[in-house]
Order: sequence, then structure tokens, then C-alpha cells
Amino acid sequence: MNEECGVFAGILFDKNENIIDKTIKSLSSIQHRGIQSCGVCISYCGYNQMLFKDSGLVSNVFNFHKKKDFNGNMAIGHVRYSTVNGDLRENAQPLKIKFKNDYLYLVHNGHIPNVLVIKNELSKTAKFETQTDSEVILIKIISEFEKNNLDISFENIGKVLSTFFDKGAYCLCFLYKDKIFAFRDKFGFRPLWFCQTNDGFFVASEDIAFKDFNIDKKIEIMPGFGVELDLNNFEIKKFDYSHKKKMCVFEHIYFSHINSNIFNYNIFEQRKKFGEIIAKKNIKLKNRCDIVVPVVNSGICAAISVSKVLNLPLNFAILKNKKQNRTFIEVENLRHKKIEQKFKIKKELIKNKKIILVDDSMVRGTTAKNLVGNLYKAGAKEIHMLIASPMLINTCLFGVDIRDQNELIASKYKNVKNLSKELGLTSLCFIDLFDIKNIYPKDEYCFDCFL
Ligand code: 5GP
Ligand code: MG
Repeated sequence: MNEECGVFAGILFDKNENIIDKTIKSLSSIQHRGIQSCGVCISYCGYNQMLFKDSGLVSNVFNFHKKKDFNGNMAIGHVRYSTVNGDLRENAQPLKIKFKNDYLYLVHNGHIPNVLVIKNELSKTAKFETQTDSEVILIKIISEFEKNNLDISFENIGKVLSTFFDKGAYCLCFLYKDKIFAFRDKFGFRPLWFCQTNDGFFVASEDIAFKDFNIDKKIEIMPGFGVELDLNNFEIKKFDYSHKKKMCVFEHIYFSHINSNIFNYNIFEQRKKFGEIIAKKNIKLKNRCDIVVPVVNSGICAAISVSKVLNLPLNFAILKNKKQNRTFIEVENLRHKKIEQKFKIKKELIKNKKIILVDDSMVRGTTAKNLVGNLYKAGAKEIHMLIASPMLINTCLFGVDIRDQNELIASKYKNVKNLSKELGLTSLCFIDLFDIKNIYPKDEYCFDCFL
């Protein structure tokens, strides 16, 4: 499973320029999408491909020494988010497969639900080396091409994807000889961007990946579309004609970077809007509370709006240990320990205060449980928690990475009063599903995790 991974691809016009620096910069900018492993494949106009991938963060894996090994003007790259079981080094991407006399390389962000059926069928003739959906995509493409005597092209890959992977979520970038092909599935669950700069063409999961580039043109690839790149041209093309948009609202709530623009919305503005909705629902707290405290970093945008709407001071009384990454994906016993180390509370800002605590979402409730206890210890008189999204009561194959509904604290307690009591809060409030749906065009977004 690779639901929140990040992908990157690029070509520099000048064959003698090296793309490794831009690749590493871009991958670092989308590091929040996956911290387990990362990798790149670099090639010189389609020749001398060099593939390297490993567990760890981009800055560690591609440190100064490693960077020196790479030279080429074409690249694809990946940052990987994996579930606990999928945390094996061999699952790192890019993946590669031999086709005729060359290799086809792939990076993938998404999840294919019917993957086992296809995998079983392929297992009769093919050998799998990873536990990823991505490898099944790669092997299926090649097996179809061999069976039907087809060559690698945008259209041929698109046909296999829209025929056999029509139930899945995928943003894919392929590198083959001197071409790059990128695809976004018809649902558009995950984001994908293209840009042209003064020195090349680039594709990435989020436009934050292009932040240091000299951009001439920036285009969000729409669901069912892809882009074909070579040294001279880019062409955005449709490959799937069904209209089934199901863009994941959690990209707006949590996954994407605050400075990205996703599905035609600016993430910062969108999260502020969620904050506004939850604040307006809680106007009564204006005269009762003293300060608004964001859960760093995920609650900051919403907290800005809450503070503004309620006219209460925004107080960064919770600090985050800089070294700590996203704790959400840690194994059970480690998660609690890590969350203890993740936050530091500034007691002097909390003592004797009635506080409004703001976060983007509540999943297992680990964050809330930890913070509430420690905020009371720090002297808080009351804690009113505002969550800038609806109650997460359902598992979704394409959204938040939880497979067992029992793990979702909102599903366990169902009503907000009980949940609030369980967490030891003075009050608790979520956005109503109706209110969040209302700000989006009808039938274009996926809200399944709230249903
Ligand atoms: P909880 O602590 O309630 O289990 O999870 C909520 C916290 O985890 C929130 O602060 C939110 O920012 C973050 N979060 C929500 N969904 C996800 C997800 O799918 N993956 C990761 N890594 N973090 C998440
Ligand atoms: Mg968080």
C-alpha cells in the first residue's frame, strides 16, 4: 500500500546538465507524503540508468556523498509511506522491469484494491519481489505488451491502466529510454502536477515540489489525464474517458503540504476555511475561553481562523520536538512513547487558562489523549477541543491509513458527548459532514471515511 507516497519526474533540456539536485530538492519538499524510504532513477537521455533506493529520509539517503554518484538529465523519484507490515527495504521505489532490451522504471502513489486477483493470475508466469501494488501494475503492463506484441507508449500504458486498474487509485510516473509518462487515475484520489521551467519539464505529486524552480507554466493534471515528456515536448493527454471524480478530501484536511495547491484549491486557505466553519459553530466559546492553542503543526491553519473568528489570542503553547516526524504510522507501543516525546507544553502559557485546542483531525485519539492529560497537568482550567474535519468513523481504502474500524475512536464512541468524556475534555466539536460537503462541487470528492 502506498496511499500517501510522493512521486517526481523530470527532464532537463540541456543534456549535459545534472538533474540530481532538483530531484533531491523536490523529493525533500514532498517528504511529508512518506518517510519510510525513498529512491531515484537517473538517466542520461535514456542511457546509463542509475537506480538507488533505501530506507530513510531523502536527506539521509541522498547525502552529499551519495549525490556525487549520479549524473544525467532525466529522473524519476519517490518517497514512500508504508504501513507497518510493508516497511521492508525491497518495497522502496522506483521499481524496474526488463522490456525487450531496456528497462521500464516506475514510481507510484496510490492503492489498487483488486490487486490480488491480478497478482494471482500473473503469478503463474511471473515472479514477484515486493509486496507492492506497484509491482503488479508493472508486471501486468509488460505481460499485456508481450501477449499482444505492443510497444511502450503513453497510449498503450494508458489502455492497460484504464482496463485492468479501473478500480484503483494511482498517480504513476514511468521512465523508459528517453521518455517519461505520467498518469492520474480517473477518480483523481491523489494529486499530480506538471510544470515547465526555463530548463526543463517536471511532474510531482504536489506543486510545492517546484517551489525553487523558475516556472514558466504550471498545470494540475486532471483525473483521467496524463502527460508525455521528452527532451523537446510535453503533451497532456486524456487516457480514461469515464467521469468518476472522487478526489480525497483528506488531501485538503491533512496529507498535502500547507503551501501546495491541490484540486484547484490552496491548502492553507482551505484549512483556514475549515477553521472558520468550526469556529462559527462554537461562537459561544468566545466569552468563555481565554486562548486558542493549535496542535502543532497540523492544527495551525484552522487555529488561525478560530482565533480570528472568536477574537481570542492564538497561543503556541504546544511546541513540537523538531526531530520527531509524523508519529501516526508508528507501531502501537512505540506510537504512545513517541507521542509523549513529540510535544512539549509551555506551562506558563497554559496555567489557569480556559483553552480552545485545535487540530485538523482525530483518528485513533492518541494525540488528544496525550495532550489533554498534559495540558491539565500544566494547569489548564478547561479544554475545549475543536476538530477541523468531521468525525472519522469509517475505514477507507484510499484515505487515512487505518484498516480496522475499531481503531477509530469516533467510531467506537459514536456520539460526541461520550467521546468528549472519554478524553477528559470540557467540550469537543467536529465539523458537520453537511457543512464540509457544502463547500465542494457536488459528486467530485470522496467523503467515505465520514460516512
Ligand atoms: P490520532 O492522534 O487521533 O490518532 O491522529 C490524529 C493526528 O494524526 C492528527 O494530528 C493528524 O494531523 C494526524 N493524521 C490524521 N490522519 C493521518 C494519516 O492518514 N496519516 C498520518 N501520518 N497522520 C494522520
Ligand atoms: Mg497532527
